[in-house]
Amino acid sequence: EKDLTISYDAKDEIGELIDVYASMMAKLKSSFEQQQQFIADASHELRTPIQVVEGHLALLNRWGKYDPVVLDESLGISLREVNQMKTLIDEMLELARGEQIKERPPTNIVEYTIEVIKELSQIHPSAYIEHILPARMEMEVLISSNAYQQIIRNILSNAIRYSKSPAHVCISYKKTPLEIIVNVKDHGIGIAPQHVLKIFDRFYRVDPVRTRNLGGSGLGLSIVKMLIENASGSIHVISEEGKGSTFTMVFPLLFEDL
Ligand code: ADP
Repeated sequence: EKDLTISYDAKDEIGELIDVYASMMAKLKSSFEQQQQFIADASHELRTPIQVVEGHLALLNRWGKYDPVVLDESLGISLREVNQMKTLIDEMLELARGEQIKERPPTNIVEYTIEVIKELSQIHPSAYIEHILPARMEMEVLISSNAYQQIIRNILSNAIRYSKSPAHVCISYKKTPLEIIVNVKDHGIGIAPQHVLKIFDRFYRVDPVRTRNLGGSGLGLSIVKMLIENASGSIHVISEEGKGSTFTMVFPLLFEDL
């Protein structure tokens, strides 16, 4: 076999071009592999509810006509599973589309946090959502209001869902010369160290069975991370199992793009 490696002097122009080309190929390869992994994970996630529905359709076909209990239960479960599939597909579409979102108007995030809190208080009436308003209300971030609402809705609803009822969740803000920081603190079940870095991965769930019953797909935080990164921000979590978690979202201030 011939050795096809071309030796080059990294300092000349051809050397630089080869470097650029090699790094482009590496990026392409890794993005292709990520896509393949995504398709594999997505298919696996969709298979589970389809198998459940398939099983119940078979039951209905055999017994459903004669047995009202089977009819009721199988229809109920099938509907729930189909709904879950719908949510999953919507979320996957969101992830696929998200990468192209360019529109980033300034949004006053405090206003939108208030709206989301109202919405979640109706869904979880026993939860206590404490909102510590900033001294000055101008908290403008370059992000669409939809994207921001989706981020805060996901983080807050996780904080409530992964807490024993009645949940106590606290939202607070900080403004530095360069950034706006949003903190969401809960006193819930927390996340063990071996899971904490993985929770932003697509389809990752600490306890897949329990979470599935709570209606979770494991996509929420990966969507949150993508939306925040599209707005040039970042998200981190500090957590202790059994004690609770604090999610910190950092958004650069408006003049970042000037
Ligand atoms: P899901 O739809 O499963 O909630 P997410 O992507 O939103 O998906 O979250 C991924 C996993 O991270 C969850 O399944 C859960 O195990 C863990 N998690 C997220 N938020 C919290 C939280 N506030 N407290 C404890 N665990 C959490």
